[in-house]
Amino acid sequence: MKITISVLKADIGSIGGHIKPSLALLQEIRNFMAASSRDLLIDYYISSTGDDIAILCTHTRGTGDKQVHQLAWEAFQAGTAVARKTGLYGAGQDLLKDSFSGNVKGLGPAVAEMEIEERENEPFLFFAADKTDPGAYNLPFYLAFADPMYCSGLILSPKMSQGYKFRIIDVSYIEKNRVIELVAPEELYDIAALLRDTEKYVIESIWSRSTGNQAVAISTQRLHNIAGKYTGKDDPVALVRVQGEFPATGEVLAPFNIGHYVAGFMRGSHIGPLMPCRLNATVSYFDGPPVVTGAAFSMKEGRLSEPADVFDHPYWDAIRAQIAQKASEIRRQGFCGPSMLPYSELEYGGVVEKLKQLEKRFALSD
Ligand code: MG
Repeated sequence: MKITISVLKADIGSIGGHIKPSLALLQEIRNFMAASSRDLLIDYYISSTGDDIAILCTHTRGTGDKQVHQLAWEAFQAGTAVARKTGLYGAGQDLLKDSFSGNVKGLGPAVAEMEIEERENEPFLFFAADKTDPGAYNLPFYLAFADPMYCSGLILSPKMSQGYKFRIIDVSYIEKNRVIELVAPEELYDIAALLRDTEKYVIESIWSRSTGNQAVAISTQRLHNIAGKYTGKDDPVALVRVQGEFPATGEVLAPFNIGHYVAGFMRGSHIGPLMPCRLNATVSYFDGPPVVTGAAFSMKEGRLSEPADVFDHPYWDAIRAQIAQKASEIRRQGFCGPSMLPYSELEYGGVVEKLKQLEKRFALSD
């Protein structure tokens, strides 16, 4: 049975700055979906990560479906009305355009979707990250799908031994999708050469080479490309199918114990370690650290099980303590050097004006 899994995510307002959406806002989204989704969707799941709300849904309408996107757009608009009425911070922040035009891509919300032939049992993971951008997934998914140091299935499972195809998108190119396809293991070094630049090259999807089936879909929208100025970080969502021809759940989760440094943190302008947190986690220290949550599902004919919280385990408490140390360490150097993003990433923010003013005061001397 062909099933489409879609996740649409937006920051439409939160309590006390960027901490989390209010219960009233979440309830409004739930009410809207309960009232409006019946004819369109098989199932759905609503969650929050930091200040973002994600609508994960299943249906048979394919990716980029106008009606599914419109449903999510209208749910976010209904939520925005509550956010405005109750004075939440950043109400409607990610809804960058006034009206819906067929697809929420290009309008602000993040989207990750895939149409799949549902397997006999269909386990998959849904990741949502806040206070970071799509490049945050480059390292963990490279390691999970291409490195036997993290993914033992690449050695042990005949179904995985042919490796995976990576579709990598150049997110700095605005006019169209500029994409390259590279295969692991043959082109491993080429994949790594691109993925090291997390602000420019981002994994868009990963595919099994033994079956041709899609394993991963990641939202790759960059808000400043849409708005022309800084309006918030791109807080990416991802879908990852697991087991069988794909890595095991634990192999996909393993690289998240690195707490690797990613773009984001305060004002979306810094570098901080990505901390795996429990579902519906909030953000705190220095409007961060960048967080990622993970929900595991099983699915049958598009019907979802309840989510299993993949980072809710004593092991991850120990990892979180280590990552908190990493966050404190890099924050000790404040604005200086690699603790803040390079100018190319800040050019959509207020620092542009400041540098323009200072430029005039430079003088040449011997
Ligand atoms: Mg956010």
